[in-house]
Amino acid sequence: MDLAAAQRCVQDIHELHAASLREDVRDLFQLALEASGFLGIIDEQSGVARLQMGANLNKLGELLETFADWSDDRRVSTALRYLGVLRDSREGGELPSIEAIEDGVVLLTAHGSKGLEWPVVFLSRCTERRWQGRTRSSSDLQLPDDLVPEPPPPGDVAVDEERRLFYVASTRARDRLVYTWARSYPQPSSEESCTPFLTMAMSLRGGSVLSKELPADSTVAVRAQRPSGAPVLQRLSIAVSDLGVFRSCPRRYNYLRRWHLPVRPDARSWYGTMIHEVLRSAATRRMAGEAVNADVVASMWQAAWEQSRGPKGRHAELRAHGEAQLRGYLESPGWIDTTIDQVEEPVTISLDHADAAGRFDRVDRRTDGIPTVVDYKTGRPKEEAALRADLQLRAYAVALAQREQTDEVAVEFHYLQGAVTRVIADKGFLRKAHGHLSATARELALASSTGSFPPKPSRWQCQRCDFRTVCDEGRAALLAG
Ligand code: SF4
Repeated sequence: MDLAAAQRCVQDIHELHAASLREDVRDLFQLALEASGFLGIIDEQSGVARLQMGANLNKLGELLETFADWSDDRRVSTALRYLGVLRDSREGGELPSIEAIEDGVVLLTAHGSKGLEWPVVFLSRCTERRWQGRTRSSSDLQLPDDLVPEPPPPGDVAVDEERRLFYVASTRARDRLVYTWARSYPQPSSEESCTPFLTMAMSLRGGSVLSKELPADSTVAVRAQRPSGAPVLQRLSIAVSDLGVFRSCPRRYNYLRRWHLPVRPDARSWYGTMIHEVLRSAATRRMAGEAVNADVVASMWQAAWEQSRGPKGRHAELRAHGEAQLRGYLESPGWIDTTIDQVEEPVTISLDHADAAGRFDRVDRRTDGIPTVVDYKTGRPKEEAALRADLQLRAYAVALAQREQTDEVAVEFHYLQGAVTRVIADKGFLRKAHGHLSATARELALASSTGSFPPKPSRWQCQRCDFRTVCDEGRAALLAG
C-alpha cells in the first residue's frame, strides 16, 4: 500500500468513527461502503469472488435492517452486540450462495452440508477407497481405558462417520443427484470398486435410480459443445422493474441485480411503500363492504406512521403530507366513482426471452367495460403523451391484455393530489409495447449471456445513482458537469 492510500485509509477510519457516534448503523454501513469503494469489489478479478462478496455485503445490509426493526437504539455498538449474538446462535441464516445468484458450478466438500441447497449435485468418486472410511488398525494410537469416560458405541466409528457424510452429501440436491465413480483412477492406478454406501443408497431409492455406464474415453464426448457464432440466450425470469433499471443503465443493473451490491433505502420509496400499503388495506376493506372514507384512511395512515421504523425523525413533515395526500385522494373521483375488482394482483408478462413479474395496485371495472389497471403515484402528474412511452405503463397494459385475453385495455395513473391520467391501449399500442419490452428483454438476455453491461452515464442519472462512488464512467460524468 502506498503512503497516500494509507493516509486516506486512516482519514476514512477517523471519519467513520466520528460518524459512528451519531449515525444510525445503516447510514454508517453505507458511508463505509462508499468510503471503501464497496470494499474494493470492483477490483476483484474473479467473477465468482465478486458475486460472493456482493452477496455478503447484501446479507450484512439485510441483517442491519432486521436489527433496526427490532431495536430503538441503532448505534453501531448495539448493532455489533446484536450481530455477535446472531453469530453465536447461528440465527442469522446462511449467506446467499453464489449459485442463487448466477448459473455456474461450485466445488464443495461434503462436510458442513445442510440439505436441498442445490438444484443438481454431482457426488464424484464414489469408490470404496474414498467412501468406505478407514478401518482402525492395531497401529492407531489408542487412549488408555482410564481416560475414556464411557465405552465407545458399537461398530466402527470412522466408517459410521463416512457413511453419515455420504448420506448427508446426498441430501444436498433439490432436483437431481448424480453419483459418479470409475473403475480405475490414475493415482494410484489400481482397480476400484463402488462404495457399499452407494449400493445401499440405490436400493433405498428403488425405481427412481437410473444407472448408466460410460465408455472409458467418454469424457470428451460428454463435454458440452458450445455452438460457434451467436450466443445461446437463456429465458430469464425477471421483475418488470428490472427492464427499467437495465434500460436506464445496464451497468447499474449489473451492480444491483447481478452483484447484489447493497443500496441505501431512500425516503421516497419508504414513504411510497407506506402510502401503497394504506391504500391496499383501504381498498380491501372497501371490497369487503366497509365504508372507507377520508377520516378512516387518515387514521390508518397515522397508525402506519406510528408503527413504521423508517427515517421518521429526518422526514417528520411527511406525516402531515401523507395524510393530506390520502385525504385528497379519498375525496377524488379516482376513489369514489369506481368499482374495485382486485387489489395487489400479481401478474407475469410473457415476453420474447423473458417472463417479467409485476403486481397491479388495483384492477377496476368501468362502465365502458374496458379492463382497467390502476397504479398509485405520489409524484407530480405527467401528460398522457409522455406516459404512452413509459415502460411501466406499457408493461401493465401488455400484462392486463394477456391476462384478460383482449386487445383493448386501459391503464390509469392515479396521482394522490386527485389527478388521473388514463391511457387506452388498443391493438396497435399493445403490439408495439410488446415489441419494445421484448427488445429490452432480449438485450438483457444477451448482456447476461455475454456478461457485458456497458454504462450509460449522464449527469442527471449518475448523481442519483448509488454506485457513483465505484463507477468510473459515472464519476467522470459528474466531474464533466
Ligand atoms: S454511476 Fe452512472 S454510469 Fe455508473 S452505474 Fe450509475 S448510472 Fe450507470
